[in-house]
Amino acid sequence: MMIGQGRKRADECDVVVVGAGLVGAAVAARLTAEGLDTAVLEAQTVAGGATGRSAGLVLAGCDFDYGRAVATYGRQRARELWSLTVEGRERLVAEARHLAVPVTVSGSWALATDAEQAARLEKAAALLREDGFDVRFGDDPLERGFQGALYTPGDAVVDGAALTRALLASEGVAVHETTEVYRWEPEGNGLRVWARGRTVFCHALVLAVNGYSPLLASYFTGRVTPTRGRLVTSDPLYETTVERPCVFDGGYCRQLPDRRLLLGGWQRETDGDGLAEFVARHFPEVNLLTAEQRSGVGGFTGDGIPLVGRLPDAPNVHFAVGLGGRGLAWGLVVAERVTSLLLHDTDPGLLAASRQ
Ligand SMILES: Cc1cc2nc3c(=O)[nH]c(=O)nc-3n(C[C@H](O)[C@H](O)[C@H](O)COP(=O)(O)OP(=O)(O)OC[C@H]3O[C@@H](n4cnc5c(N)ncnc54)[C@H](O)[C@@H]3O)c2cc1C
Repeated sequence: MMIGQGRKRADECDVVVVGAGLVGAAVAARLTAEGLDTAVLEAQTVAGGATGRSAGLVLAGCDFDYGRAVATYGRQRARELWSLTVEGRERLVAEARHLAVPVTVSGSWALATDAEQAARLEKAAALLREDGFDVRFGDDPLERGFQGALYTPGDAVVDGAALTRALLASEGVAVHETTEVYRWEPEGNGLRVWARGRTVFCHALVLAVNGYSPLLASYFTGRVTPTRGRLVTSDPLYETTVERPCVFDGGYCRQLPDRRLLLGGWQRETDGDGLAEFVARHFPEVNLLTAEQRSGVGGFTGDGIPLVGRLPDAPNVHFAVGLGGRGLAWGLVVAERVTSLLLHDTDPGLLAASRQ
């Protein structure tokens, strides 16, 4: 039975997707395109979680550098991992263009704030180039006291919320906002989902709730760490000095068309105020006290790679969570893996939650 746009009581559908961020939207759009009656239940509003609060940077790679990836996973797996993020970035750019969502392929700089980081980035650049990735290491492109920078030409900027809305609209997916899911239980050959103001019987569930996952199932406790991301927007700078998005140890920034600087970072227990130190050293004209502030919750896994799988005690409950700080490039790949798991029982490969 088709579910109405938030007004009719929801009784039954093939698949319930929990969470209307980039991942939930991509999963729901694909399942709907495959002919499955799919409904999205969202606690807040569409893209009300990390996706809508993100800085819009679509970056290949992980939150750690390629040298560390090679040391941790070995050369072949590190290459596979990076290739997946490049694939995710390319898919996102293509999808955004297809759906007429503005996207800019600007390239990005990873900035080294000290000599040790410069050496690490230079080594990462050499390894990446050997493995066929298009990157370059060079001098400080901003002339603001950095020790060097790794340039990645294909990186992009997108409005994550606009893309999420466009994905849902493209297939006419039924979305129920302000409908937080509390729990589910087996019923017949399916599941009964209990949510705010309604219950839905479905045959399969997909959890696309990223950093909120430990609140929904204890399986995620210790596997996904909710972490607050902070974003500040400065007053306009005098000139355009940051031509493309930048990442640095502990944060990222990009300059908006009106010359304001958008700066972000993650609040971890062990960190001091890394963002304030970065600003004081490299952008002394930025006054953080007068800057606009916003924040959101992200979900980080222990190894920095998203988790895709099924709950061990509920095999028709699927999940794609823990997208970390570069979730926009991961989003469509992760969505595709969990959808293939649901539809065809395809192994999620490197992203399989069973690796933990
Ligand atoms: C401030 C900030 C800046 C960021 N900047 C970038 C960036 O520039 N580039 C980048 O690549 N990544 C960035 N990220 C990370 C990126 O936004 C995320 O990794 C990505 O958007 C995750 O998408 P998602 O769909 O998995 O999760 P989300 O977008 O968080 O969506 C999950 C949804 O689930 C809903 N939900 C949770 N629990 C329930 C429930 N019980 N019932 C119903 N619904 C529920 C939430 O309300 C939310 O809408 C940033 C994150 C933050 C917080």
